[in-house]
Amino acid sequence: MSERTTLTGMVLKSAPSGEYDRRIVLLTREKGKVTAFVRGARRPKSALQAATGLFAFGSFEAYEGKSAWTIVKAEIREHFLDIAKDLDLTIYGSYFLEAADYFTAEGDEASDQLNLLYVTLRALLKGQMELPLIRRIYELRTLYYNGTYPEVFSCIQCGKKENLERFDFYSHGLFCAECGKNRKGIRLEKASVYALQFILSAPLEKLYSFRLNEKVFAQIDQMINRIFQSYVDRPFNSAAFLP
Ligand SMILES: [Zn+2]
Repeated sequence: MSERTTLTGMVLKSAPSGEYDRRIVLLTREKGKVTAFVRGARRPKSALQAATGLFAFGSFEAYEGKSAWTIVKAEIREHFLDIAKDLDLTIYGSYFLEAADYFTAEGDEASDQLNLLYVTLRALLKGQMELPLIRRIYELRTLYYNGTYPEVFSCIQCGKKENLERFDFYSHGLFCAECGKNRKGIRLEKASVYALQFILSAPLEKLYSFRLNEKVFAQIDQMINRIFQSYVDRPFNSAAFLP
């Protein structure tokens, strides 16, 4: 048996396994995504039952086997149980888990995505921001951590940082008014440009603390959706239920 390790993470997936066990996928700070077995988790009085619920976040004591980890002890700090009480929150929350699963790999360090997931679920439960906006923020920030985000801080042709206004999907970035004059793509409101910059650069604790008017939201909603979809090669199951 290998040495015990403490993993900080969140349960992305959970499925029954064998007669009494569960097989979970954890997104961890230390080891990226890991598959782990929780022996006896489905026995009625198992102390590990709560550690196998979707969204459960905390410390997992585990040892590594040949093809999977085994969880021996867990200390769950946040269960996010209220998500399951509301259908919309469940759909959005499941979508966020699925996207995190899609964009992370075993063995890669995943602190940023884990922290993002955590603050995003907190924002869902807080109820102060419209759910579709939370979704777009989460998607763009996920692309940022994945290293596949558009250039929105300076003109991709001349490098100027002022008067950025035309977004060209094929060039994957913004053009200033001058360079973008004869280009296709959408002409963005100043507030839309600022919102994109904010989503890519704001500290996590401030990420879900702004408002957009309808016109600006419609612009970034369309844009982020198109950009995000271009990095996803299969539909997410939970996305079918999103509005
Ligand atoms: Zn330019």
